[in-house]
Amino acid sequence: MKQNNKNNFSTFLPQIKGQGVLLHICCSPCAVEAVDRMVSHDIVVQLYFYNPNITNPDEYQKRLKEVQKLADFYKLPLFEDVYNPKDFLCSVKGFENEPEKGKRCDLCFQMRLKRLKNYAQDHKIAYTTSVLGVSRWKDFNQTVRAATESFLSANGTSYLPINWRKEDSEPKRLALIKERDIYEQNYCGCPFSKS
Ligand code: SF4
Repeated sequence: MKQNNKNNFSTFLPQIKGQGVLLHICCSPCAVEAVDRMVSHDIVVQLYFYNPNITNPDEYQKRLKEVQKLADFYKLPLFEDVYNPKDFLCSVKGFENEPEKGKRCDLCFQMRLKRLKNYAQDHKIAYTTSVLGVSRWKDFNQTVRAATESFLSANGTSYLPINWRKEDSEPKRLALIKERDIYEQNYCGCPFSKS
């Protein structure tokens, strides 16, 4: 049977090698392998942290600190966008009780990816992507649908729907987390994802 490689990193590589890519990053354990792979393939990575869905400020700071460590390790620029959990809570109002991978997550992904698009447009960055679909608790196709919706009116920028889970990446990701002693949270981020 023919394999579908359309979301593989290696499929996008000829297009982005030597180019700048803005990476939306939700947390270090989801991002470490993707960042490592991009840097080792001469991609000029910028990290973008916009996650008001992490409504607990202590937890937010903990994840941001880990992302800063990642940026320092690879000597990459990191931009932290505004932190306003109220914006997140308003955007998912009425959908708090949805299950994970449901409508609440659609809205959450769209909120973050729309802002990624705006930042990329304002800074004239041609390519963006994210690691929102890396966790085994997430549905990669849901993140792609949210990105498609969020980038509908994009001007001068585009979203690369890279599936970072493909191409045997998981053992490397787990090894990097262990080697660097990266903090791994036990819930997605919003209060509704805590079991
Ligand atoms: S479970 Fe995660 S993706 Fe879904 S709404 Fe909560 S923080 Fe967002």
